[in-house]
Amino acid sequence: MSRVYNFSAGPAVLPEEVLKEAADEMLDYQGSGMSVMEMSHRSKVYDKIIKDAEQDLRELMNIPDNYKVLFLQGGASQQFAMIPMNLMKNKKAGHIVTGQWAKKAFQEAKIYGEAVKLASSEDQTFSYIPDCSDLDIPEDLDYVYICENNTIYGTKYKELPNTKGHVLVADVSSCFLSEPIDVSKYGIVYGGVQKNVGPAGVVIVIIREDLITEDTLPGTPTMLKYKTHADNDSLYNTPPCYGIYICGKVFKWLKKMGGLAVMKERNEEKAKILYDFLDQSKMFKGTVVAKDRSLMNVPFVTGDEELDAKFVKEATAAGFVNLKGHRTVGGMRASIYNAMPKEGVVKLVEFMKKFEEENA
Ligand SMILES: *Cc1c(COP(=O)(O)O)cnc(C)c1O
Repeated sequence: MSRVYNFSAGPAVLPEEVLKEAADEMLDYQGSGMSVMEMSHRSKVYDKIIKDAEQDLRELMNIPDNYKVLFLQGGASQQFAMIPMNLMKNKKAGHIVTGQWAKKAFQEAKIYGEAVKLASSEDQTFSYIPDCSDLDIPEDLDYVYICENNTIYGTKYKELPNTKGHVLVADVSSCFLSEPIDVSKYGIVYGGVQKNVGPAGVVIVIIREDLITEDTLPGTPTMLKYKTHADNDSLYNTPPCYGIYICGKVFKWLKKMGGLAVMKERNEEKAKILYDFLDQSKMFKGTVVAKDRSLMNVPFVTGDEELDAKFVKEATAAGFVNLKGHRTVGGMRASIYNAMPKEGVVKLVEFMKKFEEENA
């Protein structure tokens, strides 16, 4: 068996320990005589898996009691619709557009009501986070929506926007559990788990209880009402059982690692190794304004498409895979999520140095 260094933006690298444990439990989960994939979601055994997962996540993120944790399906993209369907009481949402995912959410919201663009960084190819300290925010907005870490462009809010009292909704798909956050500052914080937490197929929604109501837009399907899932502890219908089980293992791994404050330090250390190299390289350049750089997704270019392609090809052959930038951006992107060991980043930088010398 040989594992590569996987810099994929998602689905992405998971902790090896978690994968091994899951492999060990594949045929017989804790004496049940079956795999987690094969058991009833109403069984006692599974009930413990999902309850433990929620409890561990609550501990890790210090989630206040007046927030529900929902394990849902449909990916982060389904939330682009579910959020307006459940929250647009005045039919008016404010959006800050900082990348492709933010833009998709903005466009989807327009189907359900008025979506106001409060700020955007599209003028500079989304390479920065706009100043959101004093935005012009209409009084009657239902909520302010952000994508906190922009997976494709590699930017991250270092400070949350001043919403002037409005509910903040944040897509944290690609920075989920990468550092501590203050959940009480958000109305909804949600993420697809396939970036930093688990296998594709699960989206975790952390929602303040007063935002869960019967009063959804007319025609909202039962499955797309937060209330349906909140009232049934995410077991209204069959949940993505196996995915939740793996997420639970990742939560235990994070707790064992020391929690989110420790993960933040590790992630800062890893990102610094790569950014420091990019800042002094004559060949490779980061594409993001320094103060807005993501700890998770690091895009970079050589400025020459042929050289980019050569780099990606040689890196792949050397065991550093999935470094090609998003199809809409080009260049390269190294996603260095929680489960990417520091060693992977150190070795990548060594490889980049060598490539630079050989191709100068
Ligand atoms: C990947 C990603 C999405 C889309 O996730 P799906 O689960 O494929 O719908 C949305 N937002 C962000 C920030 C992402 O990184």
